[in-house]
Parts: sequence; C-alpha cells; structure tokens
Amino acid sequence: MKRPHTRAFEKHKQEFFEQGKALDAAGDPRADCWICHKRIDYSVPAGSTPTSHELDHYYVFSKYPELFDDPANFRHAHRQCNRERGDGQPKADLGDVIAQWW
Ligand SMILES: [Zn+2]
Repeated sequence: MKRPHTRAFEKHKQEFFEQGKALDAAGDPRADCWICHKRIDYSVPAGSTPTSHELDHYYVFSKYPELFDDPANFRHAHRQCNRERGDGQPKADLGDVIAQWW
C-alpha cells in the first residue's frame, strides 16, 4: 500500500518537529531519538542529515496503516535510526518506552 501524503499529515509532522525542537531546547530527554536515546540535531531541517529529525511511526505503516496520521503513534527519531529500523520493531523493551511517553 502506498503511504498517504495528506495535508493533515504534513501539518502534524511539522508540529511534531516543532514540539521536539522546543523540548530539546528545554533539555527534555523526550526530544531524543526513541531508538538510540541520543540527541537529535534540531538545528537542521528534518530529514536533511543522518542525525536530523525524522518522524517515526511506532506502529509501522505496513501493519497499521490506520495509525499513519495519528499523533499518538509518532516518535522522534534520527533519520538514520528510522531508516535502519525499517519496518521492524526495535529490540528494546517497548513497555518502558511507551510508559515514558504516554
Ligand atoms: Zn537515533
């Protein structure tokens, strides 16, 4: 299935980036990459470098297309980490990650 690129999603994506940038400026670790837990470079545009921000979907699109546009499913990630992850679920303890977030 082709990923939808709706105007609503583009807006959510931009808002999510700004939210992460604000958290990072405040020293909040929730702005860090949820996959490797290192800081994301919010000084450059999203997706422009391997360590820049990329919106990751916790529940991958291939299995949960209905959650594609749901902000509760968004996670801050490095572009590189997100690409390496692909469609797989990370090996980390997901229960902890979810608890920290929501
Ligand atoms: Zn990372």
